[in-house]
Amino acid sequence: MTKKIYFFLVSLCCLSMGNSQITKEEVLKSLDSKYSAYTAIAQNIWKYAEMGYQEEKSSALLQKTLSDAGFSIKKGVAGMPTAFIAEYGSGAPVIAVLGEFDALPGLSQKAVSKKESLGAEAGHACGHHLFGTASTAAAIAVKDWLKNNKVKGTIRFYGCPAEEGGSGKVYMVRENLFNDVDIALHWHPNNQNAANAGAALANKSAKFRFYGVSAHAAASPEKGRSALDGVESMNMMVNMMREHIPQEARIHYVITDGGKAPNVVPDYAEVYYYARHNNRDVVIDIFNRITKAAEGAAIGTGTTMDFEMIGGTYELLPNLTVQKLMFENLTSVGGFTYTDEEKKFADEISKTLGLEKTDLKTVENIQPYQTEARAFGSTDVGDVSFAVPTAGLSTATWVPGTPAHSWQAVAAGGTSIGAKGMMVAAKTLALTAIDLFENEELIKNAKSELLERRGVDFKYIPLLGDRAPALNYRN
Ligand SMILES: [Zn+2]
Repeated sequence: MTKKIYFFLVSLCCLSMGNSQITKEEVLKSLDSKYSAYTAIAQNIWKYAEMGYQEEKSSALLQKTLSDAGFSIKKGVAGMPTAFIAEYGSGAPVIAVLGEFDALPGLSQKAVSKKESLGAEAGHACGHHLFGTASTAAAIAVKDWLKNNKVKGTIRFYGCPAEEGGSGKVYMVRENLFNDVDIALHWHPNNQNAANAGAALANKSAKFRFYGVSAHAAASPEKGRSALDGVESMNMMVNMMREHIPQEARIHYVITDGGKAPNVVPDYAEVYYYARHNNRDVVIDIFNRITKAAEGAAIGTGTTMDFEMIGGTYELLPNLTVQKLMFENLTSVGGFTYTDEEKKFADEISKTLGLEKTDLKTVENIQPYQTEARAFGSTDVGDVSFAVPTAGLSTATWVPGTPAHSWQAVAAGGTSIGAKGMMVAAKTLALTAIDLFENEELIKNAKSELLERRGVDFKYIPLLGDRAPALNYRN
């Protein structure tokens, strides 16, 4: 028997046992072959549209998908019933893929090109249904590769609830659930394909509650003390404060309870605040000044006040060692094209955004690599990025020009445009994880970069303190 024939027979034999070596090409092909299955999963989560810490069905669906694929599941981690960790393999290296699945309140929308509510309480205006599904798809693809190629190491999926204001990942970091992780990978739905060194603002949020005295607002107002006056006085002081904070800072609030009827002096009022800046120390300072304004408002209006920390996240720490690899893989995967039907949908959406026509190049191409990114959002991936080297990407799951947290984002996310973008992310994450399993040196370099960027004095102090997860923050 010649060597050639021998190898042919051996590989046939391995194939029949489902154990033959698989190439990256085959990993990509296998992801393509599961397009419909993953689209169906994302569509289900899109329809569930469950808000932070209420994502029972969404979390269960991803858990089942991973468990059916051979992952072991630990659910309810870090005191959050909808958080879970799915794992395959053993030992080092441990590569983590992060997944999210929460929706945003008040943004229910059909998958159509005009604003039309689906009649639900919430909608996937940040595309987290795609986020969770693509990361699941990537984790499973990497598992198949590990198994068939008999590679040592662990692929781990982090099911992260309540990204939108609930800071789910912060509790996972606080509980040291990333301690043995070598690299963490994530992505985010967007209006373009990019894998730049991400940026995000550190953030602290809290609900300030004022307590007054009820009375008839016309007959005996002198007996009353208005909790709403407390909220309004606080807001006025904070709005004046805007002139005296670093200009890149962001402060925003909504009055979540302003009383019930004009003829009753409100004995209770609540305002929900966010403070953000790209340096967490600035956020801490601004937040402390906001609490002083709240105290002053309570004194001046004869009310009392307390506040509950809701969320707190670090800024995003880039890791260029892994980021560069992510960019190379995104470039090799490439963007995608619209069908005629998708083009028509996109053009209609573009018009609602005040754009003449859809910029198709943005969907087809990858944005040039940038190491100096600027962004004004926040993410609890920030805390993860200070714990382990972290890199991410975004794909064009939304029609170019669409802002996050808009009905247009919900709409596109419910169509094949969202699904196609999701698959670009799944492929890029899978390729990047595989590269990391194959390159010990790269992991070492990424770790040195993390230590250097964090600084020698770094000590992790969660911005939300020692509070338990705010499981009812959306109630
Ligand atoms: Zn998001």
